[in-house]
Amino acid sequence: MARIAEQVIEQVRSSVDIVDIIGEYVQLTKRGYNFFGLCPFHMEKTPSFAVNPNKQIYKCFGCGSGGGTINFVMEIEKMEFIEAIKFLAEKYNIEVNLETKKSSKFFSQLFEIHNLAANLYQQNLKTPKGLQILNYLNKRGINNDTINEFQIGFSLNKWSFLLDETRKNNFKSDALIQSGLFINGDKGYYDRFRNRIMFPISDRSNKIIAFGGRVFDSNDPAKYINSSETPIYNKSKVFYGLSNTKGFLSKENTAIVVEGYLDLIQLFQNDIKNVVAVSGTSFTDSHALELNKYVKNVKIAYDGDNAGKNAAIRSGYVLLKNGFFPEIVVIPENTDPDDWIQKEGPIPLKNAIKNSINLFEFQYKNSDIDDSNPNSISNLVNDILKEISDVVDPVHKELCIRSIAKVTNLNENTLFESLSNMNSKKSFKTNYDKKSKKTNNNDLTNYNLLEDELIQICFSNDSKTRLFIYENMNTEWMISKSVKSIFNEIFIHLHSEYKPDINVVMDGIKDANYRQKFAALIFDIDKKILSIDAAIECLTRIEKSFLKRKLNSLRESLNILKSDELKSILIEISNIQSSLNNIKFKYDKFNKN
Ligand SMILES: [Zn+2]
Repeated sequence: MARIAEQVIEQVRSSVDIVDIIGEYVQLTKRGYNFFGLCPFHMEKTPSFAVNPNKQIYKCFGCGSGGGTINFVMEIEKMEFIEAIKFLAEKYNIEVNLETKKSSKFFSQLFEIHNLAANLYQQNLKTPKGLQILNYLNKRGINNDTINEFQIGFSLNKWSFLLDETRKNNFKSDALIQSGLFINGDKGYYDRFRNRIMFPISDRSNKIIAFGGRVFDSNDPAKYINSSETPIYNKSKVFYGLSNTKGFLSKENTAIVVEGYLDLIQLFQNDIKNVVAVSGTSFTDSHALELNKYVKNVKIAYDGDNAGKNAAIRSGYVLLKNGFFPEIVVIPENTDPDDWIQKEGPIPLKNAIKNSINLFEFQYKNSDIDDSNPNSISNLVNDILKEISDVVDPVHKELCIRSIAKVTNLNENTLFESLSNMNSKKSFKTNYDKKSKKTNNNDLTNYNLLEDELIQICFSNDSKTRLFIYENMNTEWMISKSVKSIFNEIFIHLHSEYKPDINVVMDGIKDANYRQKFAALIFDIDKKILSIDAAIECLTRIEKSFLKRKLNSLRESLNILKSDELKSILIEISNIQSSLNNIKFKYDKFNKN
């Protein structure tokens, strides 16, 4: 992957303004020093999404999302860090120079060719044959607004319609050849798509990268054909419709996966907008990873025939292995979601979506088990357990087992046993048996606040206070993983005469949840007193808590120790005890200056 020069990142950081950028997605109103609006990351009716222009950070008090400008772009456009930098650089005309001139031209030509093709296909709807297609789509219940929104078009019944048009535009021949839109035959190149209803397929950022074509009044046995894979189109990663629906996926936190273009379009038009389609390929791990960026829940709504049911189960297991608990929408025998809406309107389908069932239940119900034959149940359960054995996360695995037990009426322990026999080397069973230790929740919450406060004090205006933390804080004392990794990003800035730059720290924090935590801690920091006294108090209490924890665990170990080890432990205990007694004097010299 191409690297981006540090100075470009710096230039982007100093050029962008968070209010401008977020203002393009959210209507912001000024209230006091901050701006407020409706959060784009969760459903809400009263604004709890706040932007702090001084700190150049945002924070939602409803769902907890937060970060700097670059993080906002990453979150809302689902981009990686580098992509977000490029995106912002382009907006502010900052030269990025990531690719050589030639390759960037090649890629932009591929996009231009697709864009041109989509426009031409749309214009073709005005031809007599095109009007027949419009009529056909309207009859299926798809209205002209939807047709425009999805840029549906028509490829004429000619061998070189698109080829001739692209040639007029002086595209480079390697771009044309690699566009996937032409086939190299005995007599030279010709159009891949002829006499078909055309569905443009876009990438996340809404650039057209391929097409799907459906037959129209011909007896071509291939009902659907797709673009071949190209440098810009990887079938196993792309969802049809995602560029139109990604905002709805995030808002609902649920994705409905369908099989076909027309399923997706029909659902979308009937106000079921959190939908994506796998088209021209089966559901892959990459698809699951892509969905994971937007949603925690997935419902599969494939065709109601046997092929569709089997594909739904296969897709379900791909999702399961990637950390989801997929559910399946039960579609009536021999119909598909598109047909169903055409016949009965959207309500039955909406109910079916609401009442979707889990993968195991679906598989169980659709297998032809003979209840009187124990072998048939045992075979099915073994098949299911084989799939489960690939699930890595022990909690996820346990939840699967519970759910299978419920569906099959088998005992959980029996299922666990079969599973651990299946992969006896793996030790998840012991994890399952382990009881988690009881912790006193109240104490822990109070303690966590202390570590949070430490992060805030790092942004004190007083350089001596920051230096105090730099010289005296020991990360070994910390419990919270998130605070520890935030602190590690701040640490090197603490001995500088300038306050740490919030956005530099923000971009250094790689985990999105930790960034949110950091944004939350820093958002209202101006209201806090961040003095050296507060720092001393905070460090003292953190260290004290650390020493006490250590003391407790040493005392516990006394019970199980042999006598020869006892002495050294007792010495350690007394050392810790005296550190604890002296801790209140530890920082005296800092108070006296
Ligand atoms: Zn929110």
